[in-house]
Amino acid sequence: MKRIAVLTSGGDSPGMNAAIRAVVRTAIYNNIDIYGVKRGYSGLIHGEFIKMNLGSVADIIQRGGTILHTSRCQEFYTDEGREKAVAKLRANRIDGLVVIGGDGTFRGALELEKRQIPVIGIPGTIDNDIACTDLTIGFDTTVNTVVDAINKIRDTATSLERIFVIEVMGRDSGFITLAAGLAGGAESILIPEIPVDINTVVDNIERGIKRGKRHSIILVAEGIGDVRTIAQKITELSGLDTRLSILGYIQRGGTPTASDRILASQMGAEAVRLLLSGSSGKMVGIIGNKLESFDIELVITQNKQIDNNEYNLARMLSI
Ligand code: ADP
Repeated sequence: MKRIAVLTSGGDSPGMNAAIRAVVRTAIYNNIDIYGVKRGYSGLIHGEFIKMNLGSVADIIQRGGTILHTSRCQEFYTDEGREKAVAKLRANRIDGLVVIGGDGTFRGALELEKRQIPVIGIPGTIDNDIACTDLTIGFDTTVNTVVDAINKIRDTATSLERIFVIEVMGRDSGFITLAAGLAGGAESILIPEIPVDINTVVDNIERGIKRGKRHSIILVAEGIGDVRTIAQKITELSGLDTRLSILGYIQRGGTPTASDRILASQMGAEAVRLLLSGSSGKMVGIIGNKLESFDIELVITQNKQIDNNEYNLARMLSI
């Protein structure tokens, strides 16, 4: 293996840059030529390869987003698109590829691996919805962003004695909402994995008021459905003033936390090590603070489970 490439794909997440930096520097340290591919699979199809050097990744460890840009590439869903990508990789004499992204990105990676392109995946998504790894790059930063927002909203909620419903990102999963709810001391946590009757939420609010609580923070994962309807229902059932806050894209950006930078650095270096040792079709994961690698096939066919203990703890502590 003499020449490898790295790309970021799907939704961006804070820490992707730290992962790119680690991939680039580990490759150079091992005397391997390293290329960055712009805009994920779209850049592969269109041959957007850039030679990277040590300086290309200087001053990026602290930046959110991805310097290589990312995309959702329709063409890569077709055999024709995939063949074009493989042809470009071969024309540029790329011997192996590191892809940083979520499960869609990994499905794409398997298509390349099927066509004899050695590929290693790194889980980069704020949602943490990837099996075979405790953490994905960006999750910790986003949880911290949400907790920061909860802190700020809580000041207003307490002053005005109101109920705040806060919508949190996470696509179909509730990992961000649960972690931020536990860390932020939310009164109720609504996630798609664990259905809760809206009457129970209102009972919680009323019980809180009886014991002197001046506000309630209800965290709702976007995967639950229309958050406006939920807020309205709570207002109707409780007769109390409810305000809605949709945090939106602020959750995707920002400087990555130290934990995300460390995770990204470890995973980036490990991905290159795996490629150089002849591995392919694997994702780097972290289980119990230890780096491991798993078949991407296994990763994308498994559903990551919510930690029920974490959920029950959050519920118990919000009485
Ligand atoms: P994420 O990687 O964050 O889950 P997406 O689901 O949008 O984001 O996937 C990123 C890109 O990966 C898609 O735009 C597409 O180009 C590629 N991709 C996703 N699923 C497949 C698939 N089944 N086959 C080939 N490419 C895919």
